[in-house]
Amino acid sequence: MAGPKRGYAVINDAALNKSTVFSRQEREDLGLRGLLPHRICSLQAQEQRVLENIRRKAYDIERYIFLVGLMERNEKLFYHTVLNNIEELMPLIYTPTVGQACKEFAHIFRKPQGFYITPDDRGSIRSMLDNWPEEDIRVIVITDGQRILGLGDLGANGMGIPIGKLSLYCACAGIQPRQCLPVMLDVGTNNEELLADPLYLGYPENRLEGEAYLALVDEFIVAVQDKFPKALIQFEDFLTPNAYQLLDRYREWVLCFNDDIQGTAAVALAGVYASTRLTKIEFKDLRIMFLGAGSAATGIGDLLVSAFQDEGLDQATARQRLWFNDIEGLVVAGRTDLMPHNLPYAHEHEAGSFVDAIKSIKPHVLIGATGAPGTFTQEVIEIMSAINDRPTIFALSNPTSRAECTAEQAYEWSKGKAVFSSGSPFSAVEFQGKRIKPGQGNNAYVFPGIGLGVIACEARLISDEMFLTAARSLADHVSEHDLASGSLYPPLPDIRLVSKTIAIDVAQKAFAQGLAQIKQPVDLAAHIQSLMYQPVYDSQ
Ligand code: NAD
Repeated sequence: MAGPKRGYAVINDAALNKSTVFSRQEREDLGLRGLLPHRICSLQAQEQRVLENIRRKAYDIERYIFLVGLMERNEKLFYHTVLNNIEELMPLIYTPTVGQACKEFAHIFRKPQGFYITPDDRGSIRSMLDNWPEEDIRVIVITDGQRILGLGDLGANGMGIPIGKLSLYCACAGIQPRQCLPVMLDVGTNNEELLADPLYLGYPENRLEGEAYLALVDEFIVAVQDKFPKALIQFEDFLTPNAYQLLDRYREWVLCFNDDIQGTAAVALAGVYASTRLTKIEFKDLRIMFLGAGSAATGIGDLLVSAFQDEGLDQATARQRLWFNDIEGLVVAGRTDLMPHNLPYAHEHEAGSFVDAIKSIKPHVLIGATGAPGTFTQEVIEIMSAINDRPTIFALSNPTSRAECTAEQAYEWSKGKAVFSSGSPFSAVEFQGKRIKPGQGNNAYVFPGIGLGVIACEARLISDEMFLTAARSLADHVSEHDLASGSLYPPLPDIRLVSKTIAIDVAQKAFAQGLAQIKQPVDLAAHIQSLMYQPVYDSQ
């Protein structure tokens, strides 16, 4: 049997490596003498060196490559640095930079991370999972790369998304890195540019579709239930019809959720809850209009309906509060081109343009989830500002270049009245001598905490009520100071505390709903805290 690792085997193991922090004694004991420069550093000094390296680079994509390299080299230093500098580094390890990283994935590829499945693997997926070096996987993020952020079909290049999301699970909620598994369901791509790229690394065929596609996903899900029965499966960046189909297919018997539908919904709902403290309109009285009627928008709509019902409205009245527009205009009864998830919101109304719809329906809140930049025009914001003292504007499309409007435009065009939030980060805006820092409706506020909560109680399933609970929990973290500075979300540096609170609330909900599979701990908070990965070195 192999003994404990020594020498370069220690340095080359990202989970064990402390590099220049190894003490004299450790260097002696682990066979590291001569393999490291003389000086023994602190973790803080290492962090400073990392930051210097990042800041001297000219492009964010270079910073991303450096950070991925650091994650592969020294896990604790990576997570320590990310957590301590989360506002600066989250946009580099996730959106918007991860969008660029996915586009260029095949060109910047250095070392494989995660698990790849192709149509050639049919019938072998369960045995292939035995190749994965870890036995106790608790979180899987899977994509098929067909709708990466707002960037479309990026095929196997989409692997950057599961890797990035899982790094946020670890950073934000302290999920153990070794318990995470990024998965690329590489069923081909219809992106001709990628197929023609000689460096493209994915399955070089058009996408597998229909029954054959579903059968491959089924095989994966069944294999995971056998090999990693405690794993939570997060579906990410699937094309909307597939996203709904897969969620509906598995949610009643597998511990899974779709972040684009349900995670986005919880984050947006939290922002809407918080916005009412500024606009002074009671939540249950809100009229909300969406631009976009895809998975993100409809997911938010469905959770808003649950939230309205929670306030005493019946389902029909709750739905009537929500209006959707898609690329063809207002979603109304009688349209023959709607998808099943649109039908509950296709109200009796004259068909028409987005602008006409705002004028006649007079919403308090606009939520953009189109992937189409510039669709919240000056006219749109001005009409919203004429109707409302404080119009609430969510421009959720990612990455930043796809946002429906910028923060600056929202404040300028509304003459400073807009309550604004976005999916990707925007810098603070100076408006008439006041500094406004919009909060980012980042899914990272919610999914890591939900994941930690369901792992901690070994939940069987994830219920809609858990997302409602998470949204409330997040909104409760927004202080008066956050609101006054223009943000509907808590500061990102509070993310571990936010995630832990969400985890406690979600686990409590699971116990209350009979979905937890462990005996309820006397001190749930302490139980959850004990599970959280801490990015500090063990002292020997
Ligand atoms: P989707 O393809 O399912 O839906 C897009 C919708 O927008 C469709 O209904 C389409 O008809 C409509 N649309 C497109 N162009 C339009 C235009 N010019 N005018 C009016 N409607 C238009 O996509 P999705 O999964 O719902 O994602 C949409 C966007 O939301 C993406 O950019 C994604 O990055 C973003 N998103 C943000 C977050 C977040 O910020 N937390 C989370 C998930 C998704």
